[in-house]
Amino acid sequence: MRIEEFLPDVQKVLAEEGEPAYRLKQAYKALSVSLIRDWEESTALPKRLRTALSREAPAATLELLRVSQATDGTRKYLFETRDGHRIETVMIPEKERRTVCISTQVGCPMACKFCATGLLGIKRNLKAREIAEQVFVVARDIFPDRVSNVVVMGMGEPFLNYRETLLALKTLNDPQGFNLAARHIAASTSGLVDRIRRFADEPEQFHLAISLHNPFEDERRKLMPVASRHSIPELMSAARYYVETTRRKLFFEYTLLAGVNDQPRHAEALAELLDHPLYFLNLLRFNWTDTGFEATSKRDAKEFLHHARKLGLSATLRPSRGEDIDAACGQLAAKDLRGRPTIPASR
Ligand code: SF4
Repeated sequence: MRIEEFLPDVQKVLAEEGEPAYRLKQAYKALSVSLIRDWEESTALPKRLRTALSREAPAATLELLRVSQATDGTRKYLFETRDGHRIETVMIPEKERRTVCISTQVGCPMACKFCATGLLGIKRNLKAREIAEQVFVVARDIFPDRVSNVVVMGMGEPFLNYRETLLALKTLNDPQGFNLAARHIAASTSGLVDRIRRFADEPEQFHLAISLHNPFEDERRKLMPVASRHSIPELMSAARYYVETTRRKLFFEYTLLAGVNDQPRHAEALAELLDHPLYFLNLLRFNWTDTGFEATSKRDAKEFLHHARKLGLSATLRPSRGEDIDAACGQLAAKDLRGRPTIPASR
């Protein structure tokens, strides 16, 4: 973990102030362990340095504008970046678990047809510090409860912002920092095959989920424009590389859309496609967004699950969380983002 890459602005101030090298680690620990939001909270740093840092490299890169809580306890956080963009983060409580779902881009360029974030287009990639800081803020908010899991399934395609996302995940995993076990951290991709291979080669044991949503090439292309870039055989070849390289489970996300991908023939094709003991199918009922799709009924979703299991698939039907505050999967839109000009995503 290279702290100077995570905190380049802090490093610059320390160099200008002629501070010894250990100050960088002190500053890093103040942010990632003590979870400070203002350098004045870090009394281990001399007053003169705290003042310089507050002026040149403030401790908080995100301003927390609003927290909404759903009836099921899910909490949604609306942040504003220093350059005025808005992003959302979600905390999902479940028995002993406190899972934080984080964003990696402002908007998303992948344009999946059923996703509210996809309607926004892309404004910019988030920096590693902005990605990790979402978790720090939630951790501070829910204390004395602890963040148990982090999933990179909020706004954006994390593998289009690979370097900053990985740097953030390594920071969250760092035993000298936030210290969350790698097996409690999962990234999700819409299916960028070269990045799936690269992720498989990373030394940390992060988990991976691939958004599949349809086992048929032509139908998947209609739902997910990325499918035109990478065919299903290419995707499955990368998936096989991932499980053979890591020996870890691989999750396939599948949002059930009424009359679109929830028929018996879809379950049958999935059973053929996901024929590997390390593949797991995560079914999810569609959460309403203004995209023209309808959710598969609860009864039909359960039937699809039973059919898939009878065909030999390891599958679960995940409950929707935070629907009443638009915090469920595919609903993150930081609504006042719409209407702002879009720029192409940089890699
Ligand atoms: S589902 Fe994910 S990859 Fe697709 S548009 Fe939404 S945020 Fe982007």
